[in-house]
Amino acid sequence: MAEQPIRSVCVYCGSRPGRDPAYVEAAADLGRALAEAGLRLVYGAGDVGIMGAVAAAARAAGGRQMGVIPQHLFGREAHSRADPDLIVTETMHERKKVMFMNADAVVALPGGPGTLDELFEVLTWRQLGLHEKPVILLNTNGYWDPLIALIDRVIEAGFAEPDFAAFLTPCATPAAVMAFLRSELALTTP
Ligand code: AMP
Repeated sequence: MAEQPIRSVCVYCGSRPGRDPAYVEAAADLGRALAEAGLRLVYGAGDVGIMGAVAAAARAAGGRQMGVIPQHLFGREAHSRADPDLIVTETMHERKKVMFMNADAVVALPGGPGTLDELFEVLTWRQLGLHEKPVILLNTNGYWDPLIALIDRVIEAGFAEPDFAAFLTPCATPAAVMAFLRSELALTTP
């Protein structure tokens, strides 16, 4: 039987931990679960905040990962790790492209402006028919509820097609994210 190709999941998430400890806890749970499912983590290569929590947990559970960082941030944070899977890009734009290209699915965890920017770029591409990759929201403690409501408002007001909302799958817990990924990526691993 042909070997299943390695599947990769790109996470977009805060470079800060946020005020609710549940954000970091859920991020670590997701990182661990991705590793246990044999999924490679693609991420922003920072050791900080939610991003650092996902990656550290995935690494501790023996998961594979690809970090993608632009040159100007590389000097600041990721240089101390001897990471064979670190890709250094010239610009932020190139970085986003490399992260997305190397992913089979995307999960946005709680985060700030950078996370929103990354998330909406892939949603815009999806709306334009440029890809069909699953885009998931880890909605820890309802963090993304206002965003989900805003998307409904955008549709109601006639600024997006009704099917725009269906391009984003909110999941309340890391376990729900994993169940959705399993069905979407047809994973045979537990
Ligand atoms: P934010 O939500 O504003 O904290 O931005 C986080 C997102 O932007 C992450 O998904 C990263 O891809 C990227 N990013 C922002 N700040 C950093 C950083 N200091 N190190 C690495 N990536 C970052």
